[in-house]
Amino acid sequence: MAISDDVLVVGGGLAGMTAAVAAARGGARVRLLSHKASTLRNASGLIDVLGTDPESGAPLADPFDGLDALPGEHPYRILGEAAIREGLDLFDDLLGDRYLGSHTDRNALVPTHGGTVKPTARYPESTGSGLASSRERTLLVGFETITDFDAPLAAAHLENAGVPFEVRGVTLPFPGEFRADVRVTRMAHALDEDREAPVDGRPGTRAALAERVSEHLDGEERVGLPALLGDERGEEVREQLSTRLGTDVFEVPMGPPSLPGLRLEDALEAALHEEGVRVESGNPVVGYEGDDRVETVTVERVHREVPYEAEQVILATGGLVGKGIRSSRSGVCEPIFGCHVPQPEDRYDWFSEGVFDDQPFARFGLRIDEGCRPLDGRGETEFENLRAVGAVCGGYDSAREKSASGVSLATAATAGRRAAECL
Ligand SMILES: Cc1cc2nc3c(=O)[nH]c(=O)nc-3n(C[C@H](O)[C@H](O)[C@H](O)COP(=O)(O)OP(=O)(O)OC[C@H]3O[C@@H](n4cnc5c(N)ncnc54)[C@H](O)[C@@H]3O)c2cc1C
Repeated sequence: MAISDDVLVVGGGLAGMTAAVAAARGGARVRLLSHKASTLRNASGLIDVLGTDPESGAPLADPFDGLDALPGEHPYRILGEAAIREGLDLFDDLLGDRYLGSHTDRNALVPTHGGTVKPTARYPESTGSGLASSRERTLLVGFETITDFDAPLAAAHLENAGVPFEVRGVTLPFPGEFRADVRVTRMAHALDEDREAPVDGRPGTRAALAERVSEHLDGEERVGLPALLGDERGEEVREQLSTRLGTDVFEVPMGPPSLPGLRLEDALEAALHEEGVRVESGNPVVGYEGDDRVETVTVERVHREVPYEAEQVILATGGLVGKGIRSSRSGVCEPIFGCHVPQPEDRYDWFSEGVFDDQPFARFGLRIDEGCRPLDGRGETEFENLRAVGAVCGGYDSAREKSASGVSLATAATAGRRAAECL
């Protein structure tokens, strides 16, 4: 007999987890099935809604100002502004004061580890005192082992970009004995635990770090460090560093593995638990049974195929990165339900020549209706009880627009609510 639930969510990234919470809050019994870790642990942890103007590519002050210029097949155009706001409201409610930005519609400008400025709708509280709209003099501090954050270079890039504050960068050794290829999570844990740094003979990692940084302070009012300032005790670590330095302290979002992404993942997992969502991970969904309705989905578990039954199914398997959309020489497909993925017939038309050109492959994914149900090649609903959310949806270029998490949240809130309403 199949395992039975009201709503089955396939995929455990930002989109799947928030869709599951939305459905559970609508009164549904929800199960989430996820194969592997999502892209969250590699993501910056920033929640972009629309960072750039769809026509000019220039940074957008207010993401809602750019919506009308998006193409008709864009998920935002299909779902409407209300869906974006519903997704953001859900996110704000789940993350509480761990994220900032809900006080305004305007994008915040968050400095990145590459020395660019990212227009984003929601940002971790730990990055809050680093916003590029502030005029406070800034010291960026990099560490010798963190090669993808060259603080002096990032500072120079920020100055070239015309930020309204003076900024300098220094690179320091991180206190303690760490191998050159140490992971940022280990450094974060050292700050959490505040162990004595054996080489220095200092009382603890936090004090030793503050002492090193303070030697380089020259009247700066804030200090930005790579996002590794603690994992479980981040707030405490930042507060202590800030007190010892006499400046604000903020984190600069980093590439993979990303502490802000991991913290966001932890918070969403806790929300799933709180809402009573049953979570199973480690096994892939490989197919389904049904005709114009999905009756069961099939999970491959140790060479056995196990059916899971649900009234409503939400597909949240990610895009080309998450493996929700696959490409091969013969074409681009959605591998579980075989949903239609619009694509140029000729493979050579998947790409444009210039690296910075509009790339057709970046928009690959399922077309959806206003209830997030995937559409076939004729524009008809593929399955009456299947909805698609997040990066498995197409019609938008998240990297170019800076819209990835906004689309995930808008589709997830809509699909989760609509799935629960259909029970
Ligand atoms: C490097 C990086 C940086 C990013 N930076 C930003 C940023 O600055 N701002 C921003 O807004 N967004 C950013 N994002 C995007 C954001 O984090 C999410 O990737 C995006 O919202 C899409 O999430 P998703 O849940 O749709 O997909 P994913 O995160 O890809 O999750 C898909 C899930 O589905 C599971 N899955 C796939 N196939 C199956 C199957 N057959 N059976 C069961 N489970 C399956 C996967 O294991 C995974 O858990 C970034 C992403 C990356 C990768």
